[in-house]
Amino acid sequence: MHPTTLQREGTAIRVLWSDGHKSLYPIPYLRLKCPCAVCRGHVPFNYNEKLDLPSFQEGPPLDIAHSEPVGRYAIQFRFTDGHDTGIYSFEHLRKICPCPDCAVTQVGVAST
Ligand SMILES: [Zn+2]
Ligand SMILES: [Zn+2]
Repeated sequence: MHPTTLQREGTAIRVLWSDGHKSLYPIPYLRLKCPCAVCRGHVPFNYNEKLDLPSFQEGPPLDIAHSEPVGRYAIQFRFTDGHDTGIYSFEHLRKICPCPDCAVTQVGVAST
């Protein structure tokens, strides 16, 4: 599974997958789902505070400053809050797809 297209759409990133599935990821959502060790070591709702970052609500809109492919399996985003250690494997990206269809699946696997 890999993205056939990955493009900016307003304040979100649209991904078209090789199986035809379409995902739309709001940029703050992507930031929240950052898979790096720093972010995963924190409780999602508190990590802004602990990392001393501006909150999504109060600060300027979070954006992606830069993105680049990592090998053939992942993409790395640099956010405008300076965070750039998150490497989003395609597997991770697909797993966090916020569409209603995938949300059902996520609930199903939440206990694992
Ligand atoms: Zn991170
Ligand atoms: Zn989906």
